[in-house]
Amino acid sequence: MRLESYIAGGWVAGQGEARPFVNPTTGETLGEVCDGGIDVAGALDFARREGTAALSALSFAERGNLLRAVADVLTANREKYADIARRNSGNTPTDAAIDIDGGIATLKVYARYGKTLGDARTIMEAGEEQLAKEPVFYARHLWTTRPGVALQINAFNFPSWGLWEKVSTALLAGVASVAKPASATAWLSNEMVRDVIAADVLPKGALSLVCGRGAGLVDHLGPMDSLAFTGSADTGLKLKSGEALMKSGARVTIEADSVNATIVGPDAAPGTVVFDLAVREAVKALSVKAGQLCTNIRRVFVSRDHLAAFEEAVAAKLGKITVGDPALATVRMGPLVDAAQRDAALQGIATLAREAKIVTGGEIGAAEGADAKAGAFLQPTLLRCDDAASARAVHETEVFGPCATVMAYDGIDQAAALAAKGEGSLALSLFSNDADVQKRVADTLGPWHGRMLLVDETVGKNHTGHSIVMPQCVHGGPGRAGGGEELGGLRGLRFHMQRSAVQGSPALMKALSDDAAEAAL
Ligand code: NAP
Repeated sequence: MRLESYIAGGWVAGQGEARPFVNPTTGETLGEVCDGGIDVAGALDFARREGTAALSALSFAERGNLLRAVADVLTANREKYADIARRNSGNTPTDAAIDIDGGIATLKVYARYGKTLGDARTIMEAGEEQLAKEPVFYARHLWTTRPGVALQINAFNFPSWGLWEKVSTALLAGVASVAKPASATAWLSNEMVRDVIAADVLPKGALSLVCGRGAGLVDHLGPMDSLAFTGSADTGLKLKSGEALMKSGARVTIEADSVNATIVGPDAAPGTVVFDLAVREAVKALSVKAGQLCTNIRRVFVSRDHLAAFEEAVAAKLGKITVGDPALATVRMGPLVDAAQRDAALQGIATLAREAKIVTGGEIGAAEGADAKAGAFLQPTLLRCDDAASARAVHETEVFGPCATVMAYDGIDQAAALAAKGEGSLALSLFSNDADVQKRVADTLGPWHGRMLLVDETVGKNHTGHSIVMPQCVHGGPGRAGGGEELGGLRGLRFHMQRSAVQGSPALMKALSDDAAEAAL
């Protein structure tokens, strides 16, 4: 199976050297990707000319209907996708649901936003400024669709959600998407796009897919285009510092990796509800999707007097997690995406182990129903670092797998200072019933994080999780996390639209706002 690309309204096969993708449970090759010889400049141009032109002529409500239609096509084929996610990503049913249902849910949420914005094609911000002494000259702020193309490069761990969360905001804004999935898991993205194209629910050119390396894609962007990249900080830096992209004036947003933290509050003593909630979340971080979530907890800060109890409680639960073939009902955690990622994770653990002790895991171990060495398995791994203040690797190394390090703190201010050593993260969580601690953490760590989850016992188990990105909330983080921002409800449209200050007469202000939806972006 060689995956084709869907560009300029047709499916095309790349020529030349291909890269294989595998079943990480067995190591067996499933297929290959290759985009050699594909006319990437032509693909981007077609999307701009045909796709964006058609989408931008529609109202927000009509674009919302398109998103709903895409969600319906995907829902109808959901079981096929779960099977691909198991075979190509090593996903358990829960892992597959996070990726597949997460993508479908995001499309539906943006479909509803379309309905709310209604028949308009532009957005007028509330508030009018009088600019002259006489009431004849005013200014308002108007958002209009950029006549470009949205290039979307995704990471391997979310072949569904990563694709659809980016398409949702671009399409609702009226901009065509050219998506490039990561090669290791491109099969699921490819199958989904195939079904959507076959169902003929989108205007021509509204959605294209490049399966392969994507070399040169970013070099053909122009001033009205954008690049939304998700992946490692290294690749992000390489792409955004390319001369052609810098000169193009295209908008760029980077969603990179981060060493996210959770703080178990000073009041979260063993036996309290918040202690148990924190243990539960740490165990999820070390098992769901085999730890391959960019928002995942990598560092856990626990008040020194509760550290031993916390470590023991997490280790005990990890001991009960069965790693193996995700097709088996008894298996809670499948493999990593391929042997290269497993080896990179083992290397990362070795780096952490220079400063921290391995409490449990740290090895390939046994895999139920599978040959552990032929597959890409890794045991859930918990480490403890006894000198969090002077350690460096634990704050800087993202082990992209089921791995986290616990560390002691003395007082909430030190916990916050340690969390900030991640130098900017996607997500932070705090488990505490103390309102003062909650406020202090929110105030101090806000600048360092794109999202903060503050759990007390009134929230209990109703929270959506440290790692789960909700379409209503912004996703992205400052500093090391890339400085990007996606989603966040209507805020997600900003990336694809231009805000202009419009200055003119009261009659003009009225005419423009009569045609626009009024909303805060
Ligand atoms: P990666 O190796 O950086 O690759 C990311 C994407 O960039 C892939 O589609 C890759 O394609 C593509 N790419 C690489 N070089 C390129 C080039 N020269 N031109 C165009 N595209 C190019 O990252 P990954 O291993 O897939 O993902 C894991 C990392 O992503 C982790 O560090 C994780 O934290 C991060 N991540 C971040 C977020 C977030 O929202 N912040 C979400 C998920 C993952 P190929 O696969 O074909 O090489």
